[in-house]
Order: sequence, then structure tokens, then C-alpha cells
Amino acid sequence: MKPLPDPPAAVLDRLTGARGRQDRLTHTEHLPARPARYADWPPEIRPEIAAAVETAGIARPWTHQAEAASLAISGQNVVIATGTASGKSLAYLAPVLSTLLEGTEASNGRGATCLYLSPTKALAADQLRRLGELRKAGDGALDLLRAAAYDGDTPFQEREWVRQYASLVLTNPDMLHRGILPAHTRWASFLRALRYVVVDECHTYRGVFGSHVAQVLRRLRRLCARYGSEPVFLLASATAADPGRTAGRLTGLPVAEVTEDGSPRGETVFALWEPPLTEMQGEQGAPVRRSATAEAADLLTDLVLDQVRSVAFVRSRRGAELVSVIAQERLAEAAGHRTARRVAAYRGGYLPEERRALERALHSGELLGLAATSALELGVDVAGLDAVLLAGYPGTRASLWQQAGRAGRAGQGALAVLIARDDPLDTYLVHHPDSLFRQPVESTVLDPDNPHVLAPHLCAAAAELPLTDADLELFGPSTAPLLPQLERRGLLRRRPGGYFWTRRERAADAVDIRGGGGDPVRIVEADTGRLLGTVDAGSAHTSVHTGAVHLHQGRTYRVRELDLEDSVALVEEADPPYSTVARDTTSIRVLETDREVAWGEAVLCFGSVEVTNQVVSFLKRRLITGEVLGETKLDLPPRTLRTRAVWWCVTEGQLEDAELLPEELPGSAHAAEHASIGLLPLFATCDRWDIGGVSVPLHPDTGLPTVFVYDGHPGGAGFAERGFQRAGEWLGATLAAITACECERGCPSCIQSPKCGNGNDPLDKGGAIRLLRLLLAGNPAGESAEESAGDPAGESAAESAGRTVPGAESM
Ligand SMILES: [Zn+2]
Ligand SMILES: [Zn+2]
Repeated sequence: MKPLPDPPAAVLDRLTGARGRQDRLTHTEHLPARPARYADWPPEIRPEIAAAVETAGIARPWTHQAEAASLAISGQNVVIATGTASGKSLAYLAPVLSTLLEGTEASNGRGATCLYLSPTKALAADQLRRLGELRKAGDGALDLLRAAAYDGDTPFQEREWVRQYASLVLTNPDMLHRGILPAHTRWASFLRALRYVVVDECHTYRGVFGSHVAQVLRRLRRLCARYGSEPVFLLASATAADPGRTAGRLTGLPVAEVTEDGSPRGETVFALWEPPLTEMQGEQGAPVRRSATAEAADLLTDLVLDQVRSVAFVRSRRGAELVSVIAQERLAEAAGHRTARRVAAYRGGYLPEERRALERALHSGELLGLAATSALELGVDVAGLDAVLLAGYPGTRASLWQQAGRAGRAGQGALAVLIARDDPLDTYLVHHPDSLFRQPVESTVLDPDNPHVLAPHLCAAAAELPLTDADLELFGPSTAPLLPQLERRGLLRRRPGGYFWTRRERAADAVDIRGGGGDPVRIVEADTGRLLGTVDAGSAHTSVHTGAVHLHQGRTYRVRELDLEDSVALVEEADPPYSTVARDTTSIRVLETDREVAWGEAVLCFGSVEVTNQVVSFLKRRLITGEVLGETKLDLPPRTLRTRAVWWCVTEGQLEDAELLPEELPGSAHAAEHASIGLLPLFATCDRWDIGGVSVPLHPDTGLPTVFVYDGHPGGAGFAERGFQRAGEWLGATLAAITACECERGCPSCIQSPKCGNGNDPLDKGGAIRLLRLLLAGNPAGESAEESAGDPAGESAAESAGRTVPGAESM
């Protein structure tokens, strides 16, 4: 181990002062150190377990660990939501292993079982390794406990053994959904003895994926009840608001929460950083900022030269590789090749041995700098860094703290730097530190009652055991009206014993819990015929259209042809100096308005809509600089999506009062729409690719100038609804973000969107400010809506959500 570094403030000073970069620092936040608080394990924790834990290095548990263990032992469902490296696994492992040991001894065999769910196979493998270490530390006392992974990689000859003998089974929601639940009769003895279900990293179950997992867990609970067990749910989450309520939505059960973190933390200095404007020009001649990637590479280089152990979190694998390559080149120039080799890239898709080797190298100090994707965020053991760079806001305050929490070893100080990307949300955040440091982390959004999510799980459940009236409550209020619909569509059949699945195909195969539905498009290497992977049907038009540059497992491919008939994208490996962005057109129809509030003359609504989207062309953008190189037309059919939206309308009278001219309206509404899409992730845990928007100067359904923001998933995912609920704050922040931007006529930091279907034209920055001001003023004096001149269809502008899915599937 190298000696501990200087205080973080000194490190930051060297990054800025000495290099003339003070003006890039928009804010510095000092977070004080927090001492450790300890407690004792509850008496029910077996002495062998406590001893093993002690041998493994933990003499006394922290308060939150002891509290969670007590609740778990007493049979309460509990979620533990504390910071990174606060030993959450241990908090549930202690009661779980105690119970399993007790049961095993009492029954002289497998007396009690536990199911452990993690969002990724890699994380389950890490847990298995940790269990192995604990078992070793137990020195024979824990040898009766049999833990095993059960996932897609488990060899078939081992699976039977796992089902019959393992007391702790580590798997993922996908395997539970497709492999375990449909074959529950083979798992009868395991399910009968099931005492605990551990749901690790449960904050990752959000949006549509989270809603699917919620239904998978309800199916599990139903089968357990049939086998006579009622397992206790133990959930671990990153810091999140309202974790008990979210865990309750996820499991359908009351869940106690443990949020008081007893682990120690050193002083953290958190810097907000805005890269400078460049000479480069983007769309419509807008100024372009230096990219967060390039800036992160520079800062990483300087930190490594300064002997500061650092990781840079980058959004894409390609970005992580770029940061590492650039840093290596700079280091080679500055200090020779030996130093250059002390930086590496780390991303998902590495083999466990490769990951371990990197972790060890970082731990020993042999490696000083890592450029990583968020793959590192999930449970992988890279604590003990001195500095963390975040190239771009990771989407939520929860992940921001999770990533920043990687810095700070042995209670020492840590430096975190958030480098803004050139978009409205990042720009807003680095100029409004209160929204990061004085706001609670967000709660996780999921909507298990979404009929598009629920329907296929009802089919899968009926295939597992016929559905009866007794199941209505378990699956929620959407169930009763859905069942007769599923019967009419010939999916379920009603008999005296309940609803049955009578089809030949497996019901569980009909739903992809991570995707949106529809046949996935296969990505095939044109020359070899090798299948590289798949993308879901909804995003295929935008991500693997003919000519697209597509990143897959860290490699770059160019799509030679997208064959929609066969659902195949033929690709070739390539390394073009540009990336591609699809352009599309979108129209929207209001199907039903569920809720409506008046803001003076203006009105804000939430309801169901139908979005029709067509990808029409794509742009090439130069890597690093983002400069636009040209546009190519595409010939793809339109797709429709039925989903949920929030929308607002203003009246002609209001526009007149605000002196917004009719010719300024399209650009103003379009700009307001872009910025509001950019800011919604601050209030709903989505990213801007989960949502889309349309702005129309005169919408045929509302008869008014209208701006829509919709969920990019069939049936919605809860994001638009959150926008409706928090509209005042959301649109207020949108206005603040546009107003604060230093550009003159609009730039990617405020009103331009990277996925604009109209090439960011028209956009009117001043008009957007006036439009949002009049909306937010909510002035009650005014007149009713009037028809305005103009072509309702002709001037609409739209952003489609990147992951839209055709609404053809289900209802
Ligand atoms: Zn701007
Ligand atoms: Zn647009």
C-alpha cells in the first residue's frame, strides 16, 4: 500500500490552480467526516456465524447491520438502504446463515432455504465468492451450508443437485421468471423450505424492468403459499428516498426500512466542473463545449501523475476505452510508458478472472487510474480509491452518491468531481449545487399495475397454477378487469377451477422482463454469420438501422443492412471516426385524459396517448467533438406506441399577453419540450432515453398549443406520471436551466437535444423562457381557448424515446 494521499482539498487545488482551470470549477462542496457507530448482533445470530464474520475482519457490526439483522430474525421484511461499502450483504447474511444453519442441524439435511436474487450474474458470482470466504473463516462450522449459483451458466448436470441439495441458491430475476417458476414442481422441496428471499441492489428494479420484477416476485409468493411457506424478504438498496415504500411496491408486502448508516466516512470534497466552450460548431451553428470524456481523460492523467488512486466513471464502454487510451497517451508523453501502463479500462463483459486481476492491481496501487462504465457500480469490490471522476451526471442522485462513495479508503478523505456533459440536465446541476447536495435522493419509480406488464405475468402465473379469485388481491387492482380480456383474446380459458393457460407454448417465454416486447432483432456478423447478440424490437430502428454505428460488448460495428422481415441486422466490425444518431418524426393522439389541473388559463394533463413514430434518416457525428458530418435518408415503416403522457396547453390569449408571436410559437414550444425532457430525470428516476416528447403549435385533440412528454414503453412506466405530480418543480427547474445558460440562442447545454427528430430546428430560446414563464405564472385571469391559424400537423416537432416499442403487442 502506498501512503495515504494529501487532503482532498489540496489534490483539487493542484487540479485547478496550478493549471489555470479555476473558471471550470462551478462549485466545491465540503462534506464532513462521520464517525463509525457500533452495536451488537442480536442474540439469535449463531455464535459460529458471528465468529466467522469476526475472522473475516469485522469485530463488531455497525448499527444499521445489527438493526437489519434483528428485524430479519424477527421475521419482518426489511430493506436496508445505506451508502456504498456499508456492509449491506453482511447485514442480511448473518441472519440468513444463522437460520439456515439452525434448520440444517434440526432436520439433519436441508431444513431451511434462501433464494438470493441479484440483477446481474456477475454480482451473484461475487456473492458466492464472499460466501466461500466466510465459510473458510468459519473453520468447519459452516460446512453444512451449501450455496450454489443457478443461472444460465450453470451446467445442466449440476442443476438437479442445486434443486435438491443447495440451501442458498443465488440467481437473477430472469432465471426465476423463465427457469425456476415455470418448473416449480421440480423446486417443490426448495420452495417448501424457503425462509428468506434476498433482493440485492433492489434500486436497479425501476421503470418497466422493475415493474416486471415486481410481478415475478408476486408469482414466487403465490407458489410459496401453495407449498406452505411464507418467506421473509430482505432487500438491499443504494441510498434512496422512501425505500420502505418502494420495496413494498416491489414485493407487494409491508417492508420496514433501515436507513441510518453507522459506517464511518472520511471528509469528502465534491467539485462540480463545467468544461469550457470550444471553437467547434454543432447543429444550427450552436457553440459546443469540450466533451466530458475529453475533460475526464485530462483530469485522470493529472491525478495519476499526482499519484492519486482514481477511477473515472464514463457512461459508455466506448467512452471508457477512449478515456483510458487518451490518458495512457498523455502519460506516456509526460512520464514514459511505464507510467502509462498504470491506467486501464474496466467495463462489463470481462471474465471474472480479468476483473479480479484489475481489482487486485488497483488495490495494491500497481494500477493508479481506471476508466470504468457503471458496470463497476454494482457490488464489485473496488473501494478504497482516493478520487472519483464522474464524466456526466449518472442519471440519479442515488447513483451519484453510489459512484462518489467509491472514493475514501480507511476513513480517509476523498475527492469527487462531477464533470458536466453538454446537455441541459448536467448544465443545470453544476450551476445549481443545491439540487445535488440539499435534496434527498430520489425514490425509485415503478408501476407494477401497468396492464402491459401485468397481462403476460397473469398468463405465466396461470400456466404455473390456475388463477383463482384468491389471487386477485396479490396481483393488484388491474387484475380483475384484465382476466376476461385475456380470455377473450384466447390466452386464458375459464373453467370451474379458475383461469387456465391452455396453449402449447410456454407462457413465460412470451415476456422479456428486460425489454419491451416484440421479437428482438438479432445482430449477426455479415461475413461469418456469427450471432453477436440482440437488441429489443423497439430500439432496433434507432440503434441498428442500415448504416448505424453500433457498439456491442465494447466493439464497434457498422450495420450493413437491417432486415426487418427476418429481424436481423447484418453488421461488420469497423472503426469509423464518427457515431450515428437516428432522426425521426412523431405524431401523438390523446386517447384519454385521466387527470387535469388548471394553472390559471393553462391546463396540465395526464393520460393515455398513442404515439406514431418513424425513423427517417440518420446523422453522422464526429467522435469527441460531436461535430455533425452529414445526413443520410432511411426508408423504415412507422411504428405506434400506446403509452402514458403528461401534457400542458396554453391559450392564445396567454400567448398574446406574453407577446409571443405565432411564428415564434413552434420554436418556443419545441425548445421548452427539449429542456423539460432533459430535466425530468431529476424528478423521476428515468434517463432522457426512457421518455419522448412532442410539441405542437395547435394540437387537433386539445385545440391548443400543446407540449407532450411521454413514457417510451407500452402502457407507460410511471415517469410521465411523476412529471405530472411534480410539474411545478419540474417545469420550474426547466425554466431555470434555460435562463441560466450563458449561450445566446440555444445550445446542447440548454435547449438542443441529442435525439431531436427535427435536427434541432426550429428552436427559440427567448420564446421558450417567455412561454414557460407564462405557464408557471398560472395567472387565473384570461379568456378561453381560441383557434389559431396554422397547420396543426405540419409544424410539430418531436423527440421519440430511444426505446420505443411498437404498440402492436397485447392490448
Ligand atoms: Zn445554452
Ligand atoms: Zn426536437
